[in-house]
Amino acid sequence: MSEKIIKSEAEWRRQLSPEQYAVLRGQATERPFTGKYVNSKASGVYACAACGQDLFSSTTKYNSFSGWPSFWDVVDEGNVSLRADNSHGMRRVEVVCKRCDSHLGHVFDDGPRDKTGLRYCINSCALDLKKAPPSPGPSPHLYEEHPQNEGRGAKS
Ligand SMILES: [Zn+2]
Repeated sequence: MSEKIIKSEAEWRRQLSPEQYAVLRGQATERPFTGKYVNSKASGVYACAACGQDLFSSTTKYNSFSGWPSFWDVVDEGNVSLRADNSHGMRRVEVVCKRCDSHLGHVFDDGPRDKTGLRYCINSCALDLKKAPPSPGPSPHLYEEHPQNEGRGAKS
């Protein structure tokens, strides 16, 4: 669906912070409880920090006490790739942004039972939160009057 983004490692290195580069392009893991989104409760959509594709919604974020932002679902399954990762003597499933092939984190099957049962364990620095308007429900802007039209037009 979305077009692939392919950049050279030199380009990524210029665009990303050293920490982001190590995680997104080098499969590093940020230290637990250090990421900026670990305890974030802000509403919005978490996008890929490398390419901006929407990945996770704040409505599926929950506190797993693992030290990393955790989600029980993705915004769209087509937006991520899952790969077997047998590094570090563990059998894990790596979560990769499908659009730019950047490493995001891992997915485990110990998530909330009443939801999907999945725990997407994602590095904060691989994410970029696009904040939603603070109040839920219809946006007031939808009903905004256009002042320049006031006083004109047909009277009923
Ligand atoms: Zn991406």
